[in-house]
Amino acid sequence: MVEMPMANVGRRLGRQLGRRMGHGGRVFLDALLPPQCLCCGAMVDRQGNLCAPCWTDMRFLESPCCRACGFPFPHDEGEDVLCAACSRRLPDFDRARAVLAYDEQSRSLMLRLKHADRLDGVPAFGQWLARAGAEFWHRADLIIPVPLHRWRLIKRRYNQAALLCQALSRQTGVETRLQLLQRSRATVSQGGLSRIGRDRNVRGAFAVRSSDRARLQGSHVVLIDDVFTTGATVSACARILKRNGASSVDVLTLARVL
Ligand SMILES: [Zn+2]
Ligand SMILES: [Zn+2]
Repeated sequence: MVEMPMANVGRRLGRQLGRRMGHGGRVFLDALLPPQCLCCGAMVDRQGNLCAPCWTDMRFLESPCCRACGFPFPHDEGEDVLCAACSRRLPDFDRARAVLAYDEQSRSLMLRLKHADRLDGVPAFGQWLARAGAEFWHRADLIIPVPLHRWRLIKRRYNQAALLCQALSRQTGVETRLQLLQRSRATVSQGGLSRIGRDRNVRGAFAVRSSDRARLQGSHVVLIDDVFTTGATVSACARILKRNGASSVDVLTLARVL
């Protein structure tokens, strides 16, 4: 017989049970099982932690960065500096900030959140996001997720951006409205599309729910997504939010392609 550490057996049983118990049950069971590194699965001392090697490899983004899109600068260029792309044309959102650089290491973290049953990382991600968006909270009125289209939501069972919103709302006390922004049509996956292709793919893909329109008037919105790639998706969202009355739209993501 192959020996298997008890923790793995427990976790596997927990998963099977959790699947039957639904989302709430899984979160509950994850809390009872021995804590694992969010990235590689090694044992750690506390739920929602990274092990030391993963922590060292993770590239957390910090200032100095472009005032608009958050692109990191190697040297401090002073306050209010724009990167080359943003000085040519300002983005449709006001500011974008991200927790991590999107690389091999952070990708495995994202994929676990996206496709695996590792929801125990969500509270920690909420804390990281709250810190990365520190400049936003003094004026923020609403935290809104980039929506998934319904069939994709069914396939995946949850919208990871919505889970991040709930965690972030608990951290900051800012209201979250998970349904405010809706997908009005399906889009193909942005992966593999050119910049122009991405823009075209998401144009007209979003709408504001009519029952939330009054709440949006004059509000400062923080838009949440998992990864910032070219910014095409969040720009399309920012445009529709502003057209429907938002005063400003800041963007916060877990990772950012550099
Ligand atoms: Zn690890
Ligand atoms: Zn920029």
